[in-house]
Amino acid sequence: MSRFFSSKYNCLIPYTPGEQPKDMQYIKLNTNESPFAPSKMAQERAANAAKNLQLYSDPECRDLVEAVAKYFAVQTDEIIFTNGSDEILNFAFMAFCESGAVFPDITYGFYPVFAQLNGVEYSEIPLQDDFTINISDYKSIGKTIFIANPNAPTGIVLAASEIEEIVKANPDNVVVIDEAYVDFGAESVVPLIKKYNNLLVTQTFSKSRSLAGGRLGFGIGCKELIRDLNTIKYSTNPYNVNRMTEAAGIGALEDDEYYKTNCGKIKENRQWTANELKRLGFIMTDSYANFLFAKHSVVGGKEIYLRLKEKGVLVRHFDKSGLRDYNRITIGSREQMQSFIQILEEVLKELL
Ligand SMILES: *Cc1c(COP(=O)(O)O)cnc(C)c1O
Repeated sequence: MSRFFSSKYNCLIPYTPGEQPKDMQYIKLNTNESPFAPSKMAQERAANAAKNLQLYSDPECRDLVEAVAKYFAVQTDEIIFTNGSDEILNFAFMAFCESGAVFPDITYGFYPVFAQLNGVEYSEIPLQDDFTINISDYKSIGKTIFIANPNAPTGIVLAASEIEEIVKANPDNVVVIDEAYVDFGAESVVPLIKKYNNLLVTQTFSKSRSLAGGRLGFGIGCKELIRDLNTIKYSTNPYNVNRMTEAAGIGALEDDEYYKTNCGKIKENRQWTANELKRLGFIMTDSYANFLFAKHSVVGGKEIYLRLKEKGVLVRHFDKSGLRDYNRITIGSREQMQSFIQILEEVLKELL
């Protein structure tokens, strides 16, 4: 820390992204990226947009907003686009958390970072022993609620009806539902924004739509919430979505079939991998996301993580109490998952 750094950030511990080592060619199952390339339509539109990079991007993302409004059957003033959904989550912490925030104690690691960054008081509500959320813990809580559905890194889902109960029970607070993984089998609560003016739903093009490197996220909520978020956006970076990324997003929406097919493949590969992991002595949560959260009945999570890395497979290990026994394994292509299982078998032979 230099002597110039603001003292208010003295205790800020930044988010740790999944490692991206370059020393060898890894089978990368640690950051929940898609194994599939973006749609050709997305690639072509992005390449075309590159021809006009001398011009600023459209701060309103009008073309993309219209496409998404049609896709989700909402109004254009009920949508805001951001630089990845991380940015809209940060905006929500900036905009709506005057009386504090709550989220589960095991969830996306960025929530506490955003809270600290913005000086938001927060508390973490323990998950139950089986990693599920007890929705009655979130009723009439008097604070802004952040819930990832499916949750990370467990992949466990709440039903839309359960989320509705939480939203209904907190009419004076915003409830943010982070649907980064919703396309892999969970039910979206986007339709509920018509009924509740305290619900903000965030989604991303990073996971199911293969655009993690493009950085494209968005929020859907009633127009008053979106207006507030735009106040924050126009006070930080109006051009937060670049031209190529906006174009890629439009191309991605046009090629919806491609992504539906890819999500179908991920679900099949998830099932296949879960069966193999069970055969090898793992237990895991019931994941509806593009990853599995698995622990071995005998061998520790860190040992498995380290041995896999030596052999060229990256998974995500969280060195945190309650999570240490587990690894989060991104679901890739079938070939990747077959190699992963084969290498994991070798690792277990060495360790058992
Ligand atoms: C990946 C992820 C995000 C954000 O991803 P972006 O790439 O910033 O859109 C948000 N929430 C959860 C739970 C995630 O796993």
